[in-house]
Amino acid sequence: MSLAHGRHFLSIPGPSVMPDRVLNAMHQAAPNIYEGDLITLTGEVYDNLARIARTSTAVPVIYMANGHGAWEASLTNVFSRGDTALVLFTGRFARGWAEQAERLGVTVKSIDFGPRSPVDPALVEDALRADTGHEIRAVMMVQTDTATSVLNDVKAVREAIDAAGHPALLMVDCIASFACDSFEMDAWGVDVMVTGSQKGLMTPPGLGLNFVGPKALEARAKADLATPYWDWQPRCNPQVYYQKFCGTAPTHHLFGLHEATTMILEEGIENVWARHVTLSTAVHAAVEAWGRGGPLECNIADPAHRSRAVTSIRTGAIDANALRRYCEDQLGLTLGIGLPLGSPVMGGREEGVFRIGHMGHLSAPMILGTLGSIETAMTALDMPHGPGAVAAAAAVIAGHPRS
Ligand SMILES: *Cc1c(COP(=O)(O)O)cnc(C)c1O
Repeated sequence: MSLAHGRHFLSIPGPSVMPDRVLNAMHQAAPNIYEGDLITLTGEVYDNLARIARTSTAVPVIYMANGHGAWEASLTNVFSRGDTALVLFTGRFARGWAEQAERLGVTVKSIDFGPRSPVDPALVEDALRADTGHEIRAVMMVQTDTATSVLNDVKAVREAIDAAGHPALLMVDCIASFACDSFEMDAWGVDVMVTGSQKGLMTPPGLGLNFVGPKALEARAKADLATPYWDWQPRCNPQVYYQKFCGTAPTHHLFGLHEATTMILEEGIENVWARHVTLSTAVHAAVEAWGRGGPLECNIADPAHRSRAVTSIRTGAIDANALRRYCEDQLGLTLGIGLPLGSPVMGGREEGVFRIGHMGHLSAPMILGTLGSIETAMTALDMPHGPGAVAAAAAVIAGHPRS
């Protein structure tokens, strides 16, 4: 007998759980793409996205692509062949973005902070001060690295750039963190923000987003890597609706994203962030309890630098694959695989790690169910773990400020 019946629960860091409201919004006939409701709805999606990103100066751009497409879009609009970028590695994802930049002909300088630590802004400032000729055109970083689950301090990196008196643009990958971790595009001086539809935005994979600040749009004028499909210029200043998407609009993704962004704004973005803080803190409390009687530990030791969207858990001598397999086959819970934490290989796996995605459309029972299921698996498989994890998570959730 298996207990994997009822609704299967996906607890991976994207795609995330899609709300029924989003699914239902997508369930409709093809619309008129030239005039009428779709045009109005598209305008509302852009407005909602800007409000969620806390910007009144940046323009959202929506591509039919995943996060990798959004990465490439951002690079081709900012750089010319031979330009230099400073990329901050805190795991796997900034590396992937840097690899794309190198293949496009950009010279990449990098600082590697290792697989278990956040960006140190002081080292960024030093590197920029040393660049007396101002060759570095942009600093590129991720807010949350989805492999290591580190949360980087974006505001502190902007302050480091300013302290060094350096004109570099700040480009931030918020693919895992957007609408999960707090983010202030204007207040933090972010010039380019990159995200995707399938994580905090609770919409199917298929949309890649760039948020283009005024200085970034200026940089576009000089970028010789720009290509027709990815070009920001017509998408930011369209003469006709068609140019916003360089072709047919992603109609049903827009229906879904409209509903998802409406839900986020109905809840209030600050409440969304606070909910992610409480639920992620509950996960961390559970992992710490398990770790008091076994090898499990959060990959990131400092709670202030743990992502609110995903938690990477080191399992030591415990077989993470056996744990995940039991959860999936016997309990109906899919957990995230371990991704290479710092290795040069994209697409590989890190043994001895699993990840819990806690992004987007999540409630207390969903998190408590995930944690209880992991505990069940460790009990069934005789894996050593400390007691009281679910109670520790419940105590965190019980302490949340009620509305
Ligand atoms: C998911 C993710 C990506 C890649 O997105 P895809 O849609 O899989 O291409 C890039 N960066 C971060 C931080 C991510 O979490």
